[in-house]
Amino acid sequence: MDTELYSIRMHASRQQRHLSGAEDLVPATGVEAAAQAMLHRAWTHAPQSVFVAIDQVDTADLVRGRLSDLTLASVADVAAGRQRALVELQRAGVSLGAANMALTAIANSAGSDGVMRGAMLVDAGSGQRLEPDQSRGVRATRFGVTPAAKADCERLLAVHGLTHHRTREALVLSAKVLAAPAVIAELCWSDDPDYPAGYVASKQGGYLRIPQLKKSGDCAGGRAFFLAAGSDPASTIAFLEQTPFLVTAIGAVHRERP
Ligand code: AMP
Repeated sequence: MDTELYSIRMHASRQQRHLSGAEDLVPATGVEAAAQAMLHRAWTHAPQSVFVAIDQVDTADLVRGRLSDLTLASVADVAAGRQRALVELQRAGVSLGAANMALTAIANSAGSDGVMRGAMLVDAGSGQRLEPDQSRGVRATRFGVTPAAKADCERLLAVHGLTHHRTREALVLSAKVLAAPAVIAELCWSDDPDYPAGYVASKQGGYLRIPQLKKSGDCAGGRAFFLAAGSDPASTIAFLEQTPFLVTAIGAVHRERP
């Protein structure tokens, strides 16, 4: 890969409501094609405004990492999916109170005026919310995946019938989030009403994809990053927002028996 890397980010919206987003870290020679692909994706959502930002990143700061191992859970319904998420979060060291708080907030779309653009930062012990702006949250940004790792990931996911770009993109985002020193776990499901799957990811347990965390048609969703009890959020926010992170290898995929 070229030595110069650029962070490229897209955000499409209508009447201040988020419609579509994308993020990558590409060499100079790939910037135009990546921008065009993101614009194409934005345009399929009939946006009112599209924001594309391109910034050269300092490769001296670049952190490389791999995707977590992915486990495909099997749950009977949404209630079982949420119960499973609570169990996994506790296994990762999150208190039941903190896990319940985040799950309930996401189920109600955690922002004060609707869906947040970023994630809640949650103290894994007390459940206290640590993000400076609770209606926006904290966005993980400046991350991407090498073309070879992306192709490997798409091939492996396709074997398991997972062809939606969201699955790969969430794995990549989660790899950066879990690389933050104080983050011990993450909980997410999309606000897209047609996408009921979500996940719990943790440093110790990998990435557990849970196929039902909400009912189809439900527009609520969000993300929570759990910080080790008592952590100062400032260095985690700086890492999530500023440190460039590139996925160079993938993990394994396991499917649980129903
Ligand atoms: P999505 O899976 O893209 O529908 O995102 C679900 C929720 O995760 C959004 O509503 C945001 O609250 C949050 N989110 C999306 N992208 C990011 C990001 N890059 N960093 C932090 N939180 C995000």
